[in-house]
Amino acid sequence: MPADPSVRLSAHRATWTSSGSILVLLAISGLAILGLVFLAAIWAGEESDAAALDRQRQLVDGRLHDQLERVSQDMQLMGAGYASLLVGDSAAAGGRSERAGARSAATFGKIATTVFGYNAAFLVTPEGELALQSDSETKRRFKWVRPLLQPMIQELEAKQHGAPQGPSSDPEPSRVELMRLEGRPSVAGVVSVTGSSGGDAQQGNPGGRLYLVALRFLDGVTLDTLSREQGLAGARYARTADQEKNEVAFQIAATATGEPIGFIIWTPDLPGSRVIGRLVPVLSIAGLVIAGLFFALMGRLRASLRDLSASEHHARHLSLHDVLTGLPNRALFAARFEQCLAAMKAADRRAVLALVDLDRFKEVNDIHGHPAGDELLRCVVDRMNALIKSGDTLARVGGDEFALLLPDIRKGDDGHVALCNEIIEALSRPFQLRGGDIVVRIGCSIGIAVFQDATQAISEILRRADVALYEAKTSGRGRVIAYDPSMDHRVEARESLKNDLRLVLEDPESLPAPAGNLRPDDLGHLEVFFQGVHRAEARGGLSGAEALVRWRHPTRGLLSPNKFIPIAEEAGMIDQLGEWVLRSAARAAVRWPAHMSVAVNVSPSQIKHRDFDRHVLSILAETGLQPSRLELELTEAALFDIDENAQATLGKLRSQGIRIALDDFGTGFSSLSHLIQLNIDRIKIDRSFVRLLGTQAEGAAIVSAILGLSRTLGKATTAEGVETEGQRDFLVAAGCNDLQGFLFSRPMPLADFLSSLRLAEAVSQARG
Ligand code: C2E
Ligand code: CA
Ligand code: CA
Repeated sequence: MPADPSVRLSAHRATWTSSGSILVLLAISGLAILGLVFLAAIWAGEESDAAALDRQRQLVDGRLHDQLERVSQDMQLMGAGYASLLVGDSAAAGGRSERAGARSAATFGKIATTVFGYNAAFLVTPEGELALQSDSETKRRFKWVRPLLQPMIQELEAKQHGAPQGPSSDPEPSRVELMRLEGRPSVAGVVSVTGSSGGDAQQGNPGGRLYLVALRFLDGVTLDTLSREQGLAGARYARTADQEKNEVAFQIAATATGEPIGFIIWTPDLPGSRVIGRLVPVLSIAGLVIAGLFFALMGRLRASLRDLSASEHHARHLSLHDVLTGLPNRALFAARFEQCLAAMKAADRRAVLALVDLDRFKEVNDIHGHPAGDELLRCVVDRMNALIKSGDTLARVGGDEFALLLPDIRKGDDGHVALCNEIIEALSRPFQLRGGDIVVRIGCSIGIAVFQDATQAISEILRRADVALYEAKTSGRGRVIAYDPSMDHRVEARESLKNDLRLVLEDPESLPAPAGNLRPDDLGHLEVFFQGVHRAEARGGLSGAEALVRWRHPTRGLLSPNKFIPIAEEAGMIDQLGEWVLRSAARAAVRWPAHMSVAVNVSPSQIKHRDFDRHVLSILAETGLQPSRLELELTEAALFDIDENAQATLGKLRSQGIRIALDDFGTGFSSLSHLIQLNIDRIKIDRSFVRLLGTQAEGAAIVSAILGLSRTLGKATTAEGVETEGQRDFLVAAGCNDLQGFLFSRPMPLADFLSSLRLAEAVSQARG
């Protein structure tokens, strides 16, 4: 069985599919790399954001500490310097002048708030009372903050008690704290401003100590400065962490208690996010470009795959179909056959294989040319296709041979036989070719094999259908015959006959002498019979005889040429056999009266043989028979089917005086134009026409027409198969030249023929 071409083609597709997946892989890797780069960028960005945020938090923290530090320094400065001076002045004015004290306090407050940038400043006694005369606003404010400041003063007071008295170079004790005052984050500083001027600064102040309290709010200006100088965008203070999504909050805790006093909120500068923000469009574009490229390539690939699959489909169709008719070819048929057998395994079914062989197709091809033959085949296929069901497979398996697979036939249903008969009927109707210019009649024979055993070998099923087909062809054509095991015996018999014939022909010595000396052996021997050919004119004698071969078989009896000539042709033994007949016939004819000729049948394949003319002439030379006494009989098919070489061969033989007769005229594709073209001397009217004489009215008309035509063309005529006197009389009257048939004599062995010859001579002499 031929390799399934679809396997080869699907390998191509696999290659293309794999290149498609390579492309997908490439695209995926490209996107994966891009994704990794993106992830790495995000990771690096987040890391750098975290670092930046950390730095900004440290910055805020640092600024707060700076504030505390600065306030602390301010406190000490004020404690040691300006404040003590002011207190000194005020003390000098002392209890004597309340107004002077208030003025000093106002001055002091002004210095603290304007020079040092505090939001408020108070001079306070250790008990937590305002030490100076103050306006009502100052008093009100102090009242608010006093509870928060009091612990600081008390702490300092406690420290002062513990410390040795007297002037010291140590800075004044101070305390700085972060706290919430007036609802705002503030730095509060407290410093003892007793200074070097001694302790009795005021009445009701036993140590004479005073404390300077200064407040600075951290929101507002301070935060603005922080925001501006340190790049903390939009820094603001909030009591709660109510930052927006893109903001961060930094918690401020009170120095003393550790309690949260609020949050500094700002929009952090995140360089990582900034970089990512710039990277995203770039990477997105890169991703889009990769995806775009991928889709473009995929599109291309898909288009090429489409093209490929189209051409693959076309190639597969070509490789599995017959170009001329479009039918499945042998390869596809074999595949369908296997499918059918596989399906039979699953279900209990029967299937039918029918082999359809066209009759006389070759003749159409030879006579009308190949284009007409091709057209005929297409018409034949159209007619068959119109009859078969979908699911059935009709395939062209040879030049004019078709196979029909009917995969599902029910038991007891002989629809397949009906179908085959329909096909036979359809193909026996005339075909109009070349737009109606040519009308041909062919026909077909069909052999059927029914099978239901899925394990049966395809070759066996084919063989059976073939055996049945052979049977159909040899039993008269135009028939459908189903395989029967008894046919195998006939096939075997044919095979053994073929072998016997080969053996009979192999050793010329074993061949009996033409004189008819029988040599008994297992295979018997060949013998040439002769049938007389009579002149049609009144009391016409023998004009000659036709040599007709026989096989005297020891077991099968006397075999007619119809039984073994086809076998000899089939097995390529016809040249050898033909030569032997010709030699035997010539040897016999040499001894006949000189006016008598001998007619020898020639198979089509013999004249195609290059040396045919040489062989014929050498046999004539060898036997001494004059060429003018030899007539070679060829059928129409044989004469039309020959090429220029064979034509030349025939020409050479004719030029030597050998005559050519057209045998079985009317059974093939008699065409007037060919009849005119052919270089023939005689037309032998087939016995099927002669048989019509006396039975059908048109028989006479047909035979008369043939005879008239032959006369016009200058060809001699012989009527074959003359069996009745009526036929003879008609033919004689119609002007036929020679007559042959059982009415005159049957084919007989040479010895008998010679006897009849002598008898006839004696009769004519007696008459004469
Ligand atoms: P054919 O050439 O048409 O030979 C005439 C056949 O018609 C002979 O059959 C003959 O017996 C038969 N016949 C003669 N007269 C009558 C008649 O009145 N009525 C009927 N019904 N039949 C008659 P045969 O001898 O059996 O030969 C059959 C065919 O075998 C021949 O047909 C010829 O084509 C072929 N053949 C015979 N000998 C040879 C040969 O040596 N070489 C080749 N190539 N073919 C041969
Ligand atoms: Ca003949
Ligand atoms: Ca004939």
